[in-house]
Amino acid sequence: MDRREIAGLLAYMGRLDPRTMRTDKNELRDQVDQWHELLGDVPLATDYGWDARDAIRAHVVASPYPILPVDVARKWTKHSADRLARHTDPTPAADPDDVLAWRAELLGTRHAVAQGQRPPNEQRAITSGGPDPKVEARLRAIGSVIPPAVRADLSRFRPTRAAREAAAVEGRPDPLAVRCEWCHAPAGEPCHTRRIGLDGGARGNARRATPHPSRLDLAAAALHSQESAA
Ligand SMILES: [Zn+2]
Repeated sequence: MDRREIAGLLAYMGRLDPRTMRTDKNELRDQVDQWHELLGDVPLATDYGWDARDAIRAHVVASPYPILPVDVARKWTKHSADRLARHTDPTPAADPDDVLAWRAELLGTRHAVAQGQRPPNEQRAITSGGPDPKVEARLRAIGSVIPPAVRADLSRFRPTRAAREAAAVEGRPDPLAVRCEWCHAPAGEPCHTRRIGLDGGARGNARRATPHPSRLDLAAAALHSQESAA
């Protein structure tokens, strides 16, 4: 703030808090001198959220004591530090091999942020959207995150899955695509053996290697109705 801006600020302050008003010419000049000494490098207002008048108003509202220039200076220091804390250095446009130019640009940007001449360069903490488009295209081409060779190797460890995939490739009905009406296994889960004890309660719930025949029929019917609909 230059002396003219300081004088304007003091007039504003005098309106909000008449105790700070100086009517004597010499006193007023001393007051301007004092404020200018402490607030010479604090801007009156920036385009990004700082206004010395806001600081004065906030003080008058919050405190019974007359505001001192150091109160405004402290508020500015905090405002400036907050901005820098949110700032992440953008990559300078200068040639990275030119260390001096690189450093000067980096510091220049930081200085401009601290002085309120430009907004902080903020990084988004959470990125939005799905995976990289390249990854997505590749996944679409392969159809799975597991490469085909590895998938074939794994098939002996997951016979149910392998059988479903084989059925899909060969266009046969996939019994696991539908719910089993016999053992009530939900879609996607293999059939279970239901053993009924003599008392009528269920005994055991072993997984069956093959689906119940009625489930296969249901799957065939579902596939048929799908094909005739298409
Ligand atoms: Zn079943």
